Amino acid sequence: MTETSAKKIAVVGAGFGGLALAIRLQSGGCDVTLIEGRDKPGGRAYVYRDQGFTFDAGPTVITDPDCIEELFALSGRKSSDYVTLLPVAPFYRLCWEDGDVFDYVNDQAELDAQIARKNPADVAGYKRFLKYSEELYQEGYIKLGHVPFQQVGSMLASAPQLIKLEAYRSVYDKVCGFVKDDHLRQALSFHTLLVGGSPFAASSIYALIHALERRGGVWFAKGGTNALVSGLARLFQDLGGTLRLSDPVQEIRTERGRASGVVHADGSFEAFDAVASNADVMHTYASLLKNDPRGRSVGKALKRKRFSPSLFVLHFGLNQPQPHLRHHTICFGPRYRGLIDEIYGKNALADDFSLYLHSPCATDPDLAPPGCSAHYALSPVPHLGTADIDWAVEGPRYRDRILDYLEAHYIPHLRDNLVTTRIFTPKDFETELNAWQGSAFSLEPVLTQSAWFRTHNRDDVIPNLYFVGAGTHPGAGVPGVIGSAKATSGLMLSDLLGGAA
Ligand SMILES: Cc1cc2nc3c(=O)[nH]c(=O)nc-3n(C[C@H](O)[C@H](O)[C@H](O)COP(=O)(O)OP(=O)(O)OC[C@H]3O[C@@H](n4cnc5c(N)ncnc54)[C@H](O)[C@@H]3O)c2cc1C
Repeated sequence: MTETSAKKIAVVGAGFGGLALAIRLQSGGCDVTLIEGRDKPGGRAYVYRDQGFTFDAGPTVITDPDCIEELFALSGRKSSDYVTLLPVAPFYRLCWEDGDVFDYVNDQAELDAQIARKNPADVAGYKRFLKYSEELYQEGYIKLGHVPFQQVGSMLASAPQLIKLEAYRSVYDKVCGFVKDDHLRQALSFHTLLVGGSPFAASSIYALIHALERRGGVWFAKGGTNALVSGLARLFQDLGGTLRLSDPVQEIRTERGRASGVVHADGSFEAFDAVASNADVMHTYASLLKNDPRGRSVGKALKRKRFSPSLFVLHFGLNQPQPHLRHHTICFGPRYRGLIDEIYGKNALADDFSLYLHSPCATDPDLAPPGCSAHYALSPVPHLGTADIDWAVEGPRYRDRILDYLEAHYIPHLRDNLVTTRIFTPKDFETELNAWQGSAFSLEPVLTQSAWFRTHNRDDVIPNLYFVGAGTHPGAGVPGVIGSAKATSGLMLSDLLGGAA
C-alpha cells in the first residue's frame, strides 16, 4: 500500500479567519501549522484579564451561530462540547441624548409597538425594509458570502441581481426610502460601522446584517468571546493541528514563483506546500513578501485603497454591578452624519462622539469579581492615515473625555467606583496587530472594494499563496471572516487535493 503524506500548510495569524481556515483544512486532511505572532490566539478577539475582570478586546456581538457550528460539524463534533453560546436580549439598546430609547429586540410585536410610538407610518416601512434585508441576505450572504471572486466574470454574473437590489446606493440612502423617523433611520443603518463601513458610503448590500441578526439571533459566548476563540483553538488541536504562539512570521518566502515556506521569528525557515495569510493584507504583501516583486507591486496598489477607520477602546472595571445597563448599548451622540463624515475624513478627533458600550455582566456575571462589573466603551476614530494623532498623548485625554461622558449620561458615580482601566488606540492596532494605518477592519467595505475588487482569496500570481480574514472576500466581522475561510479552504482543498470544500 502506498501512503501519500498530507499536504503541509502554514496559516499565518490566528484571528477568527485563520482559526476557521486552519480547522477546515485540518478537517479536510491537511497537516496545518497555525502561526500566531501574539501570545494568545484571537487577533482582534484577544482577551485581557485584570484583577478578576475578563475584558474581551474586540468582537462581542456573535451572529449566525450556524457558521460556527459548521466548523465543528466538519469532523462530526458539536460546538456545545467546546463553548456555550448564550442568547442576548435585547440585541441592542439604542439611546439618544434627548432621552429617546429603542430596544432592538427580536419580537415583532414589541418592535412594531416601539416603531409605532415613533411614527405609526414607519411600521409598514420597517416591514418593507425587513423584506428588502432578507433579499440582500439571500443574495449577498447565502449565495455570494462563501464563494471566492477570483475572476471578474463571477462579479459580472451577479451584477444584474445586485443592480436590481440597488447595491450601488448606500445603506442610509436605502433606509431613508423605507422609514421617516430620524432615530429609526439611525437604528437601521448604524450596523455597517460594526464592519468598518460608513452607513453613508457602504453598499446597501450591508443592510443584510439586519436580516442576519433577526434570523440567527445575537449571541455571547459564556466566559467571553475569547472562550469561543479558545474553543476553536482546542478543536483545531484536537484535530491534530499545530498551534505556534508568540511567533511573528518574518517573511513568506517564494521560489520560482511559488510560496516555499515561512521564516519564523527565530530566523529559521520552514518549508510548506502552501501558505495562507490571515494577517493584514498590506502587512502580508508589503512586509512579509517584500523580497518578491509581487509583494512590492500589490503593496503599492493597496496604498491607493481606502481603509476603514480605527477604534479607540476603553476597558474599565467597576466595583458595583450596573443592572440598569443592557449588554449592548449604542450611545448616539448629538450628531449622526456630521460625526461619521469626520471619522472617515477629518484630520482630527471630533469634539463629540457616539459610543458602543459593552456591559457583558448583563449576560455573564462571572466576567467580573462578585459584586463588580466589567465594561468597554468603543469610539470609532480616524485611522492614522487620516489623522496622524499622537495617541501616547491623546489616549489618556480621550479616555477621560469618555469616562466623563459615561458618568454624565449612563453610569452615575462611575469614577468613584472605578477599579481599573485599559486603553487600546489606533497606534496599538498598528503595532500589535500589524494593521495598516491602524485600521480596525481592513479595507473599507464600499462596492468598489468588495467581491472581485477586494484582495483575492488566492493570489493571482503566486498560485499557492492564499488569504483569509477581513481584507478578503466577503470582509470584516466574525461571520464575514468565517465565511472567507470557507471560500479560501474551498480553493485550497481543490488546488491541493483536488477535493471538495
Ligand atoms: C473593537 C472591535 C470590536 C468588534 N466587534 C465586533 C462584533 O461585535 N461582532 C463582529 O462580528 N465583529 C466585530 N468586530 C470585527 C471583527 O472582530 C473582525 O473583523 C475579525 O475578528 C477579524 O478577524 P481576522 O480573521 O481578519 O483576523 P484578526 O483578528 O485581524 O487576526 C489576525 C491575526 O494575525 C496575526 N498576525 C499579524 N501579523 C502576523 C505575523 N507577521 N505573524 C504571525 N501572526 C501575525 C495577528 O496577531 C492577529 O492575531 C470588531 C472589531 C474590533 C476591533
